[in-house]
Amino acid sequence: MNKTIRLILGDQLNSHHTWFKTVDNSVVYVMMEIRSETDYATHHIQKIVGFFAAMQSFCAELKSKNHQVLYIHLNDETNLHSFEKNIQNLVSIHNFTHFEYQLPDEYRVDLDLKNLCQSLSITNSVVDSEHFFTTREELGLFFEGKKTFVMESFYRMLRKKHTVLMDGNNPLTGKWNYDGENRKKLPKNHKATWPLVFANDVTEIYNQIQLTTIKTIGTIDAKAFVWPINRIQSLRLLDFFLAECLPLFGSYQDTMSPNEWSLYHSRISFSMNLKMISPQEVIDKAIQEWGKRPEEIAYNQLEGFVRQIIGWREYMRGIYWLKMPEYGTMNFFNNQEKLPDWFWTGNTKMNCLKDAITQSLNYAYAHHIQRLMITGNFALLAGIHPDELDAWYLGIYIDAIEWVEITNTRGMSQFADGGIVGTKPYVSSASYIDKMSHYCGSCFYKKELKTGKKACPFNSLYWNFYDRNEAKLSENPRIGMMYSAWKKMKPEVKVALLEQADYYLKNINEL
Ligand code: FAD
Ligand code: SF4
Repeated sequence: MNKTIRLILGDQLNSHHTWFKTVDNSVVYVMMEIRSETDYATHHIQKIVGFFAAMQSFCAELKSKNHQVLYIHLNDETNLHSFEKNIQNLVSIHNFTHFEYQLPDEYRVDLDLKNLCQSLSITNSVVDSEHFFTTREELGLFFEGKKTFVMESFYRMLRKKHTVLMDGNNPLTGKWNYDGENRKKLPKNHKATWPLVFANDVTEIYNQIQLTTIKTIGTIDAKAFVWPINRIQSLRLLDFFLAECLPLFGSYQDTMSPNEWSLYHSRISFSMNLKMISPQEVIDKAIQEWGKRPEEIAYNQLEGFVRQIIGWREYMRGIYWLKMPEYGTMNFFNNQEKLPDWFWTGNTKMNCLKDAITQSLNYAYAHHIQRLMITGNFALLAGIHPDELDAWYLGIYIDAIEWVEITNTRGMSQFADGGIVGTKPYVSSASYIDKMSHYCGSCFYKKELKTGKKACPFNSLYWNFYDRNEAKLSENPRIGMMYSAWKKMKPEVKVALLEQADYYLKNINEL
């Protein structure tokens, strides 16, 4: 009798997948908690717990619908801790005749599974994960023959193709992009809605992890785990976002405030990246909500949100599959420095970094601008090696899966790809951080000072960055103005700035 074994990866928890439409007694699903996945980076404890909790919950859901599922727990004696070894073992024990899997999102796992298929003595096949708007190849085909990969044109193509916020061939309101309206600073004393959090008891999973040598970072309240661990909770989080946050999402998407860890952001990246909810349903529900409350939800808020999902998210995935594996080795500026120790503790006098890192350790989450303009900005100014940064971002965030982490980190944040994702490096001095946040007022450092003991490190590091990378950047038309300003500075001012930066770089662990 033919018997099929189907592998479900930890980020493939899509209950609407065709696989699960019918119950087939000749099919057995397998899910596994393995060391090759827990150990390829030093993950946040909440990330490992969150994945395992969501996997266990998905397994229970499948079983309740009468699907046959083999679940290999972390500390099961028979667990061989790699996809290949566990599958080989199961095939030999249960006499499966066919192996099937869904296209993985990560290059590393894709290779592993291709190798596994070659080593198996039974037939195999692969199916789509039925999650994204685009195929792996779509971005490459769209930009074929082009020198640049402009996100905006990819986004517009996808809006047309999938009829999202369109009026025939034109954007619904006549305008594609409302970015210009989405850069407001949070008014002083404005209190954002306290975010919906869950209180999942994940003690059992946490205890199992403690029995192993798995290295983790960050903290967790295992009795009240805040992240959604199943589709129902993911939908509740989405509904909360639509009800409470969407009306101000766009306006405040670039703002930052001390002790406000999520502001008006949706925090659905974990749910979406694990496929508990789909980008299509997220967009559909957001558009429906706007349709119901047009007076409360201005169009710019909706468009800003839709662009993140059908635009940036699909774009990053396309870049990943077009450019891997070379992408993982790119280092345009040849940066070589190590991350300061306080990236692992939050123990720094720089208020903005202290806040962004501490909340990352506490929640396994920081919103986009904290990742880009605080931690990423500092790391690029300080010349940190992109490998170090990738390892940090890949470990610390609950939503960090390589396809979306590396393109954002190496590409958007570090410009290590030399301009594939961004047209210029995202760096700033204190003035941008102060413009967009309330961090500077209570900082040890003074935002207006460029030199001296209390000078904000961002100020001198900013000019040091441009100075040391002049050969690589001065021809960039978007940066010309910076170099004219640098050239106009008096020599003694330049020397003082570079000396200050040099001092900070040599004493980076003390900042
Ligand atoms: P919201 O601000 O509410 O946005 C809604 C959704 O849009 C997100 O859930 C996400 O799915 C999508 N989105 C928004 N921006 C991006 C983007 N730049 N790329 C892809 N999708 C986007 N996102 C991850 O999912 N995993 C990562 O590992 C990751 N690493 C990042 C590293 C750096 C250095 C930077 C600058 C960004 C990174 N991002 C990553 C993108 C973005 O910061 C997160 O998707 C977002 O902060 C998740 O929080 P949210 O769900 O509240 O997002
Ligand atoms: Fe950050 Fe500088 Fe502002 Fe302090 S003064 S919060 S270090 S930008």
